[in-house]
Amino acid sequence: MGKIIGIDLGTTNSCVAVLDGPSVQIIPNSIGGRTTPSVVAFTDKGDRLLGQIAKRQAVTNAANTVYAVKRLMGRRLDSPEIQKLRCCLGYHVVGSDKGDVRIVMQGKEYSPPEVSAMVLQYLKSAAEAFLNEAVTEAVITVPAYFDDSQRQATKDAGRIAGLEVRRIINEPTAAALAYGLGKKERERVAIYDLGGGTFDISILELNGGVFEVLSTCGDCFLGGEDFDQVLIEWMMSEFQAEHGIPLAGDVLAAQRLKEAAEKAKCELSMATETSINLPFIAHDGQGPKHLSRALTRGEFEAMVQGLIDRTTSYCEKAIKDAKLAPKDINKVILVGGQTRTPAVQRHVEKIFGQKPSIELNPDEVVAAGAALQGGVLEGDIKEIVLLDVLPLSLGVETQGGLFTRIIEHNSTIPLRKATIFTTVADNQSVVDIHVLQGERELAKFNRSLACFELVGIPPAPRGAPQIEVAFDIDANGIVSVSAKDRFSGKEQAVRITPSTGLSKEEIDKMVLEAQQFAESDRRLREITELRNRISGQMAALSKSHAQCGSLLEASDQQVIREAIQNAKALSPDESRLDVLKEAMTQLETGAARLTSAMFNSGWDGTEIPSEGTQGSARPEDVGRW
Ligand code: AMP
Repeated sequence: MGKIIGIDLGTTNSCVAVLDGPSVQIIPNSIGGRTTPSVVAFTDKGDRLLGQIAKRQAVTNAANTVYAVKRLMGRRLDSPEIQKLRCCLGYHVVGSDKGDVRIVMQGKEYSPPEVSAMVLQYLKSAAEAFLNEAVTEAVITVPAYFDDSQRQATKDAGRIAGLEVRRIINEPTAAALAYGLGKKERERVAIYDLGGGTFDISILELNGGVFEVLSTCGDCFLGGEDFDQVLIEWMMSEFQAEHGIPLAGDVLAAQRLKEAAEKAKCELSMATETSINLPFIAHDGQGPKHLSRALTRGEFEAMVQGLIDRTTSYCEKAIKDAKLAPKDINKVILVGGQTRTPAVQRHVEKIFGQKPSIELNPDEVVAAGAALQGGVLEGDIKEIVLLDVLPLSLGVETQGGLFTRIIEHNSTIPLRKATIFTTVADNQSVVDIHVLQGERELAKFNRSLACFELVGIPPAPRGAPQIEVAFDIDANGIVSVSAKDRFSGKEQAVRITPSTGLSKEEIDKMVLEAQQFAESDRRLREITELRNRISGQMAALSKSHAQCGSLLEASDQQVIREAIQNAKALSPDESRLDVLKEAMTQLETGAARLTSAMFNSGWDGTEIPSEGTQGSARPEDVGRW
């Protein structure tokens, strides 16, 4: 059986790790990066790009470059957060028949789990290359505050990518695992996790291998992307004030502003001042216009203070829910790249009355924790007990549109709780039940998870049937429902219509498409590598032929000349494998003949005057690719 990899599927960046003996290894991606931008793009030729390569071309291909897809997972298009976010995205989102978000790239609609699956597939391949074996199982992390639909969507993404998701684990819990593994003494830690798109605060008690989450709280729409947006809006208004040109709505400018905002923000974590320079960002009748501004850390921090302050009430609630005071917390650990902003660190210190610890790498610690959880599931790590909690209360809609809680938030999971339902009319054979998740008192303000019908209830006066409906929450925080008629003891049929999310058939179809894409990605890679090899071989052969072609028979010289000419004649976009392979074979044959002639002649490395080598390739002819 292969290894279980740990994946931190982030809003901005993702990271993959694996347990290697007693320690965790962060797995580099195909270009050597330890983290991978969670960015996917389609070119107009239909090629799929991922990670750093996709991010790099975003400016010129903004409409087909998708980032921050995690913010769209398990969401409906008409939710207020998505409506607000929609106008800031450089790409187009629409609604499915059910109202779920769909992303449009090159005219085709994709669900958020499908796009996330592309990132996961890329990480899976990196892991396979690193481990030199097939990888089929993973632990994937999610923000602790993700609700059931978002968790389901993450699981679906894993399946589409060809991964069995052995466990969904909360990001702060994963970080705590990475921090606390092997520590014997009892400690209470707060994990303050401000990533690219989400904020989570979790309070845990660690005690000799038992990791118990005492409380969790957060906001799925608060993260580094919002910090960038504040800077983007500031740049736009500065530019408009100076030149009278609005940049809003200009897709190309938006992408450049986004890049510049993130760069300036990150620089201001190190330096106290930075400059933003965006030449030719717009033009009017008088010519091109440039955006050039200096920005101090103080100015930036004043702009984002409102966002940082929003974390306070969540922290206070988590401390209160854990029935603790700030002084009871032994350590505060920072997770998520956005915690590198000094004002965030000062703010955390103010809330908890102590300096936060920066001993863990905030970009890698979550993936490391996920890999450790993989090790626990494989049995390589023993004597660990993880007790996580349900982040948001679970309940049903009752008369008058009220939300009746069945399971309170912060209840330890896995968990099963049953409740009795009955009929409101005589001989009623069907009962409709609407399951929701959230903390608001009115059902309509909470997240609708599913509607289900209890069907086939035997005829009886109203109020007589007693149907026990049980809500099971597994260790992933995912909910399932079952029902039993108490009178007959029979299992009651439950017909569930998920409010959001993909059906089994949709997922199966996407799994197939993803496999096909994996195949075409592999092919694309093979072609690119072959083209690169041809380019290198052509350059080397041209050079050696120019130097010592005269050692060869005329017929062999002709073979080499033809091989070089053929290779040069290939289009840079040539994608027919047989044509490329043939070109490579010709070059290799030529190289073999030249090498053997050089060897047989006892060549000493000096240039041989070209005699009768008319038409031979010169080094400067080379290198069209
Ligand atoms: P994560 O989800 O943990 O990868 O966090 C990503 C977020 O952290 C993005 O919004 C990044 O722009 C932000 N980030 C990364 N490095 C820094 C830095 N040095 N200073 C401020 N923010 C950063």
